[in-house]
Amino acid sequence: KENILDVDNLHVSFKTRNGEITAVKGVSFSLKKGETLAIVGESGSGKSVTAKSIMRLLPKHSAVIPQGEIKFEGQDLLELSLKDMQQVRGSKISMVFQDPMTSLNPTMKIGKQIMEGLKKHQTLTKSEARQRALEMLELVGIPNAKKRLDAYPHQFSGGMRQRVVIAMALACIPQVLIADEPTTALDVTIQAQILQLMKNLQEKMDTAIVLITHDLGVVANMADKVAVMYAGEVVEYGTLDEIFYETQHPYTLGLLGSMPNLNAKRSEPLIPIPGSPPDLATLGTGCPFAARCPYTMAVCHDYHPRKTELSESHSVLCWLQDSRTPENHAPETVGS
Ligand code: SF4
Ligand code: MG
Repeated sequence: KENILDVDNLHVSFKTRNGEITAVKGVSFSLKKGETLAIVGESGSGKSVTAKSIMRLLPKHSAVIPQGEIKFEGQDLLELSLKDMQQVRGSKISMVFQDPMTSLNPTMKIGKQIMEGLKKHQTLTKSEARQRALEMLELVGIPNAKKRLDAYPHQFSGGMRQRVVIAMALACIPQVLIADEPTTALDVTIQAQILQLMKNLQEKMDTAIVLITHDLGVVANMADKVAVMYAGEVVEYGTLDEIFYETQHPYTLGLLGSMPNLNAKRSEPLIPIPGSPPDLATLGTGCPFAARCPYTMAVCHDYHPRKTELSESHSVLCWLQDSRTPENHAPETVGS
């Protein structure tokens, strides 16, 4: 299978009052039809910024993409005109956010909202669009779908509302669905139902999913591949098995050690490793994880680690796995 989405060396900076900060630094990943890539990391790691870059939804006045490519079906999305991008958005690539109300108009009946989304991208008569909206509601498991077409968003529960948003996002059968913490606001039972729904629909439509989450339980359940992000970089990238069973980066190890309690009522924020992510505005030249890493070596403070390929699918950004680590800093000599 060919890649449907290829993100290559993506950089995103924001202009702030205190100068420019780089929120995403050299992020690369790829996705084939029907595959799920999970992007995992703490808040502020650059997950959502990466997702928004793909959709070209970054704030226009403050965000800059100085480097990188986002290839969708071979075309760099960053080079598309706004008009062409609007055609892609919602029909070929769509996005589901954590808060369903982000995507819903509270004053419009949901049937009408789904129909409007459809009519933006497809030539349908009103009754065809209504029929398609009804099918979508049924597909995502809204009971009494025919009646519910005429209900307003506030007349749905949180879980049902997220189902409506998924119906909207998938109505045009997009090739890629980007889901940014789609179930974080929901309780665990509903969360599992929504994830199962996404899986079923993915199978039906062969959609590729970019799933952004901080919850490794969700990752284990959904992902084929995983990109672990820290301070704007992908620090480890691999198949689900490589990330879970052949873990190489100390940060990934920390995340796995903090897998949330499955009986928890809500997904907990990650508390992986003592300390907090670095301030992106004052990052030094060394490894951004050095201050929290249990394996820090002298080299880590001064030099940024380089990417080491461990297999065709597995790579890591850490001096521990790098044969180029200077001799006098080699891991064996540290901590002995
Ligand atoms: Fe830890 Fe050094 Fe690896 Fe960074 S490069 S994760 S500080 S061992
Ligand atoms: Mg986020």
